[in-house]
Amino acid sequence: MARKLIFDRKEWDKLKNLCEKGYPKEVCGLLFGKVLNEQKVKVTKCEILENILDEKHSPRLKELLAAGVVTLPKERIFKGGSYEFLIDPKEHFSKIALAEKEGLEQVGLFHSHPDHPAKPSAIDASQPYLAGWSNLIVAVYQRQFKEACSWFREKEDSPFQPEEILVE
Ligand SMILES: [Zn+2]
Repeated sequence: MARKLIFDRKEWDKLKNLCEKGYPKEVCGLLFGKVLNEQKVKVTKCEILENILDEKHSPRLKELLAAGVVTLPKERIFKGGSYEFLIDPKEHFSKIALAEKEGLEQVGLFHSHPDHPAKPSAIDASQPYLAGWSNLIVAVYQRQFKEACSWFREKEDSPFQPEEILVE
């Protein structure tokens, strides 16, 4: 039985909107809500994250590079972040702290695939820290939402399994 990811209608619409608005760049963010049981996860809040590969964040990128915490290969860092994403851990933690105050926990991550199918890319599959929560991918073609698929894996080295997405 596939795990189910259940969205509030309002948050689902917001998510599609954020991914369309970000086109042609890749959009990335966090999914917050509640784990109802092993097979069911409720999403009640989507939050976009800044891509610090974007030029406007270059001072912060320099800071993180100097701190030696950027694991992305050098040749992929300076492409302007159109198809590559780097999250600022500071922003990530502050959004988690805020959600916790609202009684929510992080249940997953989402990112968009501009003009590409909603399947994990080879780069996605090689990312660490994706196990144990929902990895939602939103395909946006020509600024229009096309489809979304969510993927789950138990361990970092196990294959992604599709989750069922429900909107209610
Ligand atoms: Zn991807």
